[in-house]
Formats: sequence, C-alpha cells, structure tokens
Amino acid sequence: MKIVCDTHVHTIASTHAYSTVLENAQFAASAGIKVLAITDHAPTMPDAPHIWHFGNMDAIPDTLFGVRILKGIEANVCDYEGGLDMDVGMLRGMDWVIASMHEPVLPPADRAAHTRGWIGIAQNPMADLIGHPESAVYEFDHEAAVRAFKEYGKAVELNEHSFALRPGAAENCLSIAGLCKKYEVPVVVNSDAHFAYAIGQTPNVLRVLAEIRFPEKLVLNADADRFLAFQQSRKAARAGC
Ligand SMILES: [Zn+2]
Ligand SMILES: [Zn+2]
Repeated sequence: MKIVCDTHVHTIASTHAYSTVLENAQFAASAGIKVLAITDHAPTMPDAPHIWHFGNMDAIPDTLFGVRILKGIEANVCDYEGGLDMDVGMLRGMDWVIASMHEPVLPPADRAAHTRGWIGIAQNPMADLIGHPESAVYEFDHEAAVRAFKEYGKAVELNEHSFALRPGAAENCLSIAGLCKKYEVPVVVNSDAHFAYAIGQTPNVLRVLAEIRFPEKLVLNADADRFLAFQQSRKAARAGC
C-alpha cells in the first residue's frame, strides 16, 4: 500500500516547524504525493500563526509542482464537550479540518472526560478528521469513540509522528486501527511533518496496518480520488451548517 496524500503537514507558520509551503510542495512532488494539506495550528496553541493566516490561504495556489494543495487547519479540541477553538464561520471556509487534543490547550483529565470529549467532537459538524488519537496522555474508551466516529461520518487519523513523540502510540495505534477495521471506519495515514523530508513517510503506521491486514479500501489516502471524494463531502457538510 502506498500513501499518495499527506493531509497533516505543518509549515513555518507554526514556529516549531521548519519548512515553507513551497518547500513542502516541492518535496511532496518528489515523493509521489498527489494531495498535500497544509494544516498549521489554530490560534490557541502557543506557537500558532495569527488568525489572519487562515483567512488568507487563498493566496496559495491550488496546485504547486503538480501537487493539489488543500488549505487546512489543525484545530484544537478546547473542552470535553465537543468544542473547537475556532470560529465556525472560519472553519466553514477551510478545505480540511483536523481536530486534535494538545496539552497546552486542553489539560488532560480522566478516561471518562477524554471519551466524552471525542464523542463530542464526533458530533461536531466542523471536524473532518480525528487528529492523533494515539496519545496515551488522553486515554479513552476506544470502542465507544470509534463507534461514534462511525455514526457521525468522521475519519480517524493514524499519525506517524506519534511514534516518535507520543507515549503509548504503538499500542494505541494498533487498538484504534483494529476497531476501525471492525466497524469499517475510514482512516487517514498522515506524517504530521514538521520538516519537508518527513512528508509521505509513514513506515510505523503502515507496519501496524499490515500486521492486522487492514483493508486498503478504508485507507482514504491510499487513493487520491477516494480521499478527495471524502474531503469534498466533508467540506460541503461544513458549509451547509
Ligand atoms: Zn497535533
Ligand atoms: Zn500537527
């Protein structure tokens, strides 16, 4: 299986990342990536760009070096009731919205609260993709949450960067992917690159998927048309809210 879209990538607009949009697109093209989503942090994160960053992304061409560029955001889950830290009007206009839990924004609580938080995000029409749920810092009831993601039509991210950074990533990735297979929830395999060279590089996640014989048809970004069909339907659903 080959990943042909990378839908979670940072640029120097988030100051703990080190490549520009142009550098990312150029490397993506050389790595055989067809769709690249630029997803810098929403403003509540300490290193996030100013909110104007997200309102002006039309300045970026839709295609660079033959790579389709999506103008996205990694929004922050900001409470345990399904809230995101961005204005709905702004989220409606984005191409792609990832919802992630980050410690500087959302202090970890307990398993029941984390589970309630993810079920709330499942019900939030502005969220397209459940961002890096593997982190053991936010342990939750995987089965209850994955069933909610299925019910409300979300995709679940399997995040390569977690393997280097987030404790518990390997075990939790295996558990969450297994449940996505069981309930037929689509997944997206992302690098969460903070430097261009990481784009499209997801060996640890692909090893987990091979281990459990995960069906390729549920991996949205193993096929550009499959991913774009999902992304377009999510964008239309957000615009209609
Ligand atoms: Zn993140
Ligand atoms: Zn990220």
